[in-house]
Amino acid sequence: MNLNGKIAVITGGTRGIGYAVAQKLVECGAKLALIAAHGGERAEEAVKNLTDIGAEARLYVCNIANPAEVSETAEKILADFGGVDILVNNAGITRDNLLPALTTDDISEVIDVDLKGAIYVTKAFIRTFVKRKGGSIINISSVVGMMGNKGQTNYAAAKAGIIGFTKSVAKEYGRRNIRCNAIAPGYIATDMTSVLGAEVTEELTKQLPLGRLGKPEDVAELALFLAGDASAYITGEVIKVDGGMYV
Ligand code: NAD
Repeated sequence: MNLNGKIAVITGGTRGIGYAVAQKLVECGAKLALIAAHGGERAEEAVKNLTDIGAEARLYVCNIANPAEVSETAEKILADFGGVDILVNNAGITRDNLLPALTTDDISEVIDVDLKGAIYVTKAFIRTFVKRKGGSIINISSVVGMMGNKGQTNYAAAKAGIIGFTKSVAKEYGRRNIRCNAIAPGYIATDMTSVLGAEVTEELTKQLPLGRLGKPEDVAELALFLAGDASAYITGEVIKVDGGMYV
């Protein structure tokens, strides 16, 4: 896959799935603007690891739930890179609990980051895609947005929303050669899932047809495919990377 000269924006690109996507895109020649909620040592180290292998990668600290911050950050990225060809809306959070125990903050924060954040970021960059006459937008949803999950009503609603958003962007911008697809990961070993503990992880793994948790790289392989020309005739799709979790 040749992404030489392509500019990619990845939200939540400094760790977990977002970082694995960053590594894949860089290996194929893309330049990266990574958006993270926080700066700090870990985020800077992630960017350093990418620049050490010769990539052009810059970090932008921005809370994607804040539309003013998103506009400001998009302006900075466009000034630094001159445009965007690939957008990966990956940043996300969970605030899990059974419905009666969810606080209004648990509900708002998840919808604000996981759903509204992706909409704000896409809105901030869509005109640059139109100007460049094409590009690929990849939204990270979740199988939970397709099948639902006990204890994740807020998160499942946000991730299902991402699917509707993806299909609508695909329809609104297909004629402009801008594709928009969603990836629905299953259970991937990252910071997000490490909080679940060994017992829950073991139980979940037993139920997976492929018998193992996913790795961030499993998701990144599909993101790379969707980013490049190999997927030129695919838009509005939701593709699971879940080891058979939701068959
Ligand atoms: P992670 O917690 O390791 O990484 C999340 C990233 O999002 C971090 O880089 C963080 O800085 C960023 N982020 C969070 N809130 C933000 C905000 N307000 N503004 C900007 N950035 C913010 O999680 P992960 O497992 O790598 O998850 C990545 C995506 O994949 C998420 O959307 C998640 O919902 C989705 N997903 C994960 C799994 C899984 O099993 N890990 C399964 C399905 C879907």
